[in-house]
Amino acid sequence: MREVTVEAERTALSVAEARRIILEAVPALGVETVGLAEAAGRVLAEEIRAGVRIPPADNSAMDGYAVRAADTAGAPVVLRMGEDLPAGKRSERKLVPGEAARIMTGAAIPEGADAIVMVEDTETDGARVTIRRAARPGDHVRRAGEDVRPGALVAEAGALLRPPLVGMLAALGRSVVSVRARARVAVLATGDELVEPDRLRDDGRIASSNSYALVAALREIGAEPVYLGIAPDDPDEIAARFRAALRCDAVISSGGVSVGDRDWIKQVLVGLGGKMRLWRIAMKPGAPLAFVSVGERPVFGLPGNPVSTYVTFEQFVRPSLLRMMGHKNVFRPVETARMADAYKKPPGRAHFVRVKLERSNGELWARISGPQVSNILLGLVNADALAFVTAEAAGVAAGEPVQVQRIHSDELSAEPGF
Ligand code: AMP
Ligand code: MG
Repeated sequence: MREVTVEAERTALSVAEARRIILEAVPALGVETVGLAEAAGRVLAEEIRAGVRIPPADNSAMDGYAVRAADTAGAPVVLRMGEDLPAGKRSERKLVPGEAARIMTGAAIPEGADAIVMVEDTETDGARVTIRRAARPGDHVRRAGEDVRPGALVAEAGALLRPPLVGMLAALGRSVVSVRARARVAVLATGDELVEPDRLRDDGRIASSNSYALVAALREIGAEPVYLGIAPDDPDEIAARFRAALRCDAVISSGGVSVGDRDWIKQVLVGLGGKMRLWRIAMKPGAPLAFVSVGERPVFGLPGNPVSTYVTFEQFVRPSLLRMMGHKNVFRPVETARMADAYKKPPGRAHFVRVKLERSNGELWARISGPQVSNILLGLVNADALAFVTAEAAGVAAGEPVQVQRIHSDELSAEPGF
């Protein structure tokens, strides 16, 4: 294991190139059937066509009386009380001239009736009903099939199952639906210095915050995290954990991916037969990122610093997993804001600056949310967005426009935006 050498450092890729390479390499997951109550947020794997009419019959849009419009022409008129039709009850006889049937919203219109008079325009003594306003044929009648007719296309395969579509499936009488599988994703932390949060003592070790941020981030996209704990900086131990991890659809590790003596991730993955697809990306935070395919399995070896871990997850892992789960829109929304604070950097790498967004006089402003060092998590905690400062730029002046990526928005788009 220790003898395996990893291909020497290549020139760093741009963010856009790295994203393209990664997204092209991730496989699509299979299809499964789920109950409707579990379907929200999943991606449809079948075309949905209506098999029934909705509504199934002409029905009343109001609480009131079903009448023959012609009988009400000389309103006010007095009609005999006919059948009583609560919602869900089918009429048992035809409405005859001179008669009104009490009807509730949603109840099927009786044969012979062609209009509804709302209860507010009537008065009754129980045996008779006075209609105060003339009705026209069709008044307050909802037509059978006006929502969908048999054969109508309701949703195409690939559609996101948002709540209204889930409701529509129920209305069509569906109780299960075919969807794209959720990704089971192994989360592995590496580092001798790491402990679980409940083992945090004043002994120089730190809590594995990455593990928990990543699990939370996976839940946000409907992936299924498989928690694999903390591996020490020992190649055999790391290899054993990766072997277990590779039973999942994808693997995310953090730490150990740089050039230190204890950075074993790349060697271990190559030793397990992995194909290194990229390693260095011209970005800050998060330059070293090992993207490795072990067979079909994508492995994301993310850098260990918590901000680097999260920013690289956002840029590369999140869209990849969404894509694997069949989503078309996989990118966080990007828009233009003006930088409220000046930001300086050397040209060479793109920077993701943690910012808070504020609207003032109809304009969006980005204010730096805390120190911009990759181990300072609080700036990310307080950020709404990442401002993207291009590799070529030497910074952004105060008041200058910059692209900002909202990192908490679920309104995703099909294009990355930068
Ligand atoms: P490494 O790339 O392994 O050298 O890690 C870089 C920095 O990130 C070190 O200061 C680590 O202590 C820190 N780090 C690595 N893994 C984690 C983790 N799971 N949670 C929090 N910090 C971490
Ligand atoms: Mg380490």
